[in-house]
Amino acid sequence: MKLQYRFSLFVIIVPLIFAACNRAEAQPTRTELVLGTACSVTLYDQGAPRVYRNIFRRIEEIEKRMSVNLPGTDIARINAAAGRSSVQVQSDVFLVIERALHFAELSGGAFDPTVGPLVSLWGIGGDYQRVPSQAEIDDVLPLVNWRDVQLDRGECSVFLKRSGMALDLGAIAKGYAADEAAAIIADNGIKPAIIDFGGNILAVGRKKNKSLWSVGVQNPNEGRGAYAGILHITGQSVVTSGVYERFFEKDGERYHHIFSPSTGRPADNGLLSVTIIAPVSMNADALSTAVFVMGYEKGRALIDSLPETEAVFIFKDLSVRKTAGADFTLTDESFRFEY
Ligand code: FAD
Ligand code: MG
Repeated sequence: MKLQYRFSLFVIIVPLIFAACNRAEAQPTRTELVLGTACSVTLYDQGAPRVYRNIFRRIEEIEKRMSVNLPGTDIARINAAAGRSSVQVQSDVFLVIERALHFAELSGGAFDPTVGPLVSLWGIGGDYQRVPSQAEIDDVLPLVNWRDVQLDRGECSVFLKRSGMALDLGAIAKGYAADEAAAIIADNGIKPAIIDFGGNILAVGRKKNKSLWSVGVQNPNEGRGAYAGILHITGQSVVTSGVYERFFEKDGERYHHIFSPSTGRPADNGLLSVTIIAPVSMNADALSTAVFVMGYEKGRALIDSLPETEAVFIFKDLSVRKTAGADFTLTDESFRFEY
């Protein structure tokens, strides 16, 4: 599949760094086009140029190891060897796959890092996006099964049991990259900072005036930068999965990029978007995708069972639900809270 590199200069969730944020002390935001999107970091402290360099070097390293779109990455090598042999990988790649399988189990398979064949078949966001026939979907569905990923921790190797299987870490690796950026920032003693990797937001530390960070949650029905409401967070991550990020329309029907591994079609359960607030961005990233596929009832139950994890759900009928600990205010009056 030839995936076109789609760089969105606007992001799903844009951190609204209000006047209260000591703008005067901010280093200029650094933005690079990596991980298939615009990745921005803003450091509110000294010593920034070297730290910026180290952060983006690390993010590029992650892309070179975890992308399905570049040749020779660890993920590309695992996929090429599917059904034949196991492949030794870098320890960070192993870790992200291990976490992806954890979330696959936790979500009852709604999150599944072996969606690769479905991603290729539909090609959403690429030059050859199309609605495949049911027969084509039925052909690839047996290849989508996270239980057929075999890990060997001692060898740091990964084996896909069936030929044709393919890993895709698109729903979790941006979050991991944000956590890695935060680790570099913390190692350099820099606080506060804001990381925005294509809508995966991670606020590092507290703002200097101790006020909360304000993060806008995209209105799924409007263009980029129009918000449904505002979240207030401290040092946490905010990640949204929604129908509006990558999609195409055919015969009045919208086909988006988050698949139900059981039907092989874009997940459709009344939700427009799910936003997760959690301390670790990788977890928030995986959970936003997982809960979007699980739907409100099951997804809400999962979020309620996890410590320090909150969620905001936006529905097609413009109703909004949130967990008790989510500090979320609606700003667009076309939406309404429902409890
Ligand atoms: P999320 O909900 O977080 O993830 C959706 C994505 O996860 C889908 O696009 C699909 O890849 C996968 N997915 C779909 N359904 C499921 C499911 N049920 N369970 C698990 N995963 C699922 N984009 C480009 O256009 N070109 C590139 O070269 C490119 N390179 C990338 C390299 C890396 C390392 C990463 C992390 C991303 C890259 N991307 C690239 C972007 C990527 O393809 C996804 O579109 C993006 O990560 C989706 O993120 P999201 O936040 O919109 O949605
Ligand atoms: Mg995700």
